[in-house]
Amino acid sequence: MFPDLVCVRTPLVNFHVLKDDAGLVLLDAGFIGGRHYLREALRERGWEDELIRGILVTHGHLDHVLNVASLAQEAGAWVAAPRLDRERYLDKERSRGWSRVAGVLEAIGRPLLRFRSFTPDRWIDDGDEIDLWGGLRAVHLPGHTAGHTGYYCESRRLLFCGDLFASFRGWSHLPPSILNQDSAGIRESVYKALSLDLGGVVPNHADGAEPEEHLRRLQSLAARLRPD
Ligand SMILES: [Zn+2]
Repeated sequence: MFPDLVCVRTPLVNFHVLKDDAGLVLLDAGFIGGRHYLREALRERGWEDELIRGILVTHGHLDHVLNVASLAQEAGAWVAAPRLDRERYLDKERSRGWSRVAGVLEAIGRPLLRFRSFTPDRWIDDGDEIDLWGGLRAVHLPGHTAGHTGYYCESRRLLFCGDLFASFRGWSHLPPSILNQDSAGIRESVYKALSLDLGGVVPNHADGAEPEEHLRRLQSLAARLRPD
């Protein structure tokens, strides 16, 4: 991939570490065992003594934010997260419709896994510029959750696309309806993502393919979505 990017691979979900002159920033913070996998991944890359200065969140699902509060506290790191998922960080989300199923799972999982609520230091809105890793822009990609947001690095033509889709060889798909707040909205978000000038995308639920390959899978998924 890139020498200043580490993908922390875990059995259920991946998350990412970006490195620039100021230190490390996590892009999401993983799920069960995430802290262990993070330590291993940093050691493997020789980054174990680097300062984690921030955590940037794509959305408020438990498998992305379980470790945010503890890691932020430990490292003294800032947290920036999409404003429209605020109820989820504060642990006050009440889901409706299909997403009630996910809501129930989260309601059970949060106390069980000792989720610690947090208030971000910075609220992220669509189009916000984030001054790290050569510049990232927040791209609101709602549907999966109301606040679901990707982060676009224009200079590298790369989009960290969160849970916009899951990318596995021979099995790429949109997130299942029971996990989405508004499945119909995801289509629009897929088209919005693909309207960017892209050389690759980086999803969180994915195999170890290169960003270019993930992008090809997203493009063929989008072609199958179009009603014609
Ligand atoms: Zn999710």
